[in-house]
Amino acid sequence: MMARRPRVIVIGAGLAGSEAAWQAARAGAEVELYEMRPGKYTPAHHTGSFAELVCSNSLRSNQLTNAVGLLKEEMRLMGSLVIEAAYATQVPAGSALAVNREDFSTYITEKIKSSPDIEVHIGEVTDIPDDAVTVIATGPLSSDAIAEKIRELTGGGELHFFDAAAPIVDASTVDMGRAYFASRYGKGDPSDYLNCPMTKEEYDAFYDALVSAEEAELKDFDRESQQSPEVFEGCMPVEIMARRGRDTLRFGPMKPVGLEDPRTGREYWAVVQLRRENKEGTMYNIVGFQTHLTFPEQRRVFRMIPGLGEAEFLRYGVMHRNTYLNSPSLLTNTYSLRSRPDLFFAGQMTGVEGYVESAASGFVAGVNAAAAAKGEDLCVFPPETVIGALAAYVSEGGSGSFQPMNANFGIIAPLGQKVKGGKSKRNEAYAERSLKLVRDLILPRLSCDSEDIL
Ligand SMILES: Cc1cc2nc3c(=O)[nH]c(=O)nc-3n(C[C@H](O)[C@H](O)[C@H](O)COP(=O)(O)OP(=O)(O)OC[C@H]3O[C@@H](n4cnc5c(N)ncnc54)[C@H](O)[C@@H]3O)c2cc1C
Repeated sequence: MMARRPRVIVIGAGLAGSEAAWQAARAGAEVELYEMRPGKYTPAHHTGSFAELVCSNSLRSNQLTNAVGLLKEEMRLMGSLVIEAAYATQVPAGSALAVNREDFSTYITEKIKSSPDIEVHIGEVTDIPDDAVTVIATGPLSSDAIAEKIRELTGGGELHFFDAAAPIVDASTVDMGRAYFASRYGKGDPSDYLNCPMTKEEYDAFYDALVSAEEAELKDFDRESQQSPEVFEGCMPVEIMARRGRDTLRFGPMKPVGLEDPRTGREYWAVVQLRRENKEGTMYNIVGFQTHLTFPEQRRVFRMIPGLGEAEFLRYGVMHRNTYLNSPSLLTNTYSLRSRPDLFFAGQMTGVEGYVESAASGFVAGVNAAAAAKGEDLCVFPPETVIGALAAYVSEGGSGSFQPMNANFGIIAPLGQKVKGGKSKRNEAYAERSLKLVRDLILPRLSCDSEDIL
């Protein structure tokens, strides 16, 4: 009789769970992947596909001198499914890696469903398995039942903030008499961005309407949070940002510099940018306009934007509670639970922030879950790489209370020497060092000394 292969259970087929399942299978485990959609949805997901992108269609910068660009390259070299899917379904977006969100999720879903090593189960998981190595990747909007079990297991004390998504409009309903195509400073393909320019008078009227518009009720949230929701700076609702000052948006998402109208050469007081959502250019999202205004108020206020007077909204902006673990006291730098090493967590719920970062944590958790199932030493990814630096951050935290973290060069192990030529030269040195480690150390081994685990 053939011996049963090492088994890994992955719960949640989002960005992290899809990557974890793929990597665990690649590392030789027999994987059971559980996903509750389409039977049950989170408040932000709309499809039954795996790795659905709930807000922007951008995986952010593609430059090696940017930490998330470097993270993507590390993952691409190591064979990440999420990054492979992103390049296969890429839509033009200048120096960013943006994707056609449907094609992206379909690509990942099909790859996983056709893998002989991954068995997919559709249905909500309401308890944490204790008979197999398990990766929990149920995301910031984990279903109530599993969230309760995680709370019991980790002793409560989880943290949260609020996250918001931006609306998407039908490109054919944008008034091209007002709007124009242009990329900032002429970088990249001009058709990636539609620009809606405003005069000072139009901006003032829009601003007044925005800051006094009605916000949606934050259902299910406690009263304290209702009064002063703690929002993540990187995905702050536009109306909250606007309240910081009349000109804040003009120096943020409505910055007009480098966006002259190519038809007239005119520079405007403010510009709202719409980024292409799909290859066909039929859908555009309003960049930086995450919001939690009520839907009628989004229609009323955003239609004041020149060019959007008749715009049809294909999706409205929404805001949700986003829960994550107090990971430094709970997880190691392999994303395993200190008190139960056969249980791994991955994704946004560990305190990494963003699509790519979530997938990166899934990569590390998946590789290590397979190693644990095989009885092998776990793999600590070096903190000189962005993928390793994120894992180290999650297990150690920074100073002060634990906050969600995007990929950035501040968390990566310092170079230990000064690099001449400014920040971009320094970042090039980080990238060179990291990619060398990936090629020389991680790729050939993908396993390390368990003594490295914190
Ligand atoms: C509203 C919102 C907007 C965001 N916008 C952005 C953005 O624009 N850019 C960005 O980089 N990041 C954004 N994020 C942050 C983050 O990158 C995403 O949330 C990302 O999807 C996290 O990946 P994940 O794998 O951890 O979770 P998810 O992708 O949410 O995956 C979790 C999966 O688990 C499933 N699941 C949940 N409970 C169960 C259960 N009990 N049983 C089985 N399956 C279950 C869910 O259906 C889902 O498929 C946003 C987050 C939110 C909430």
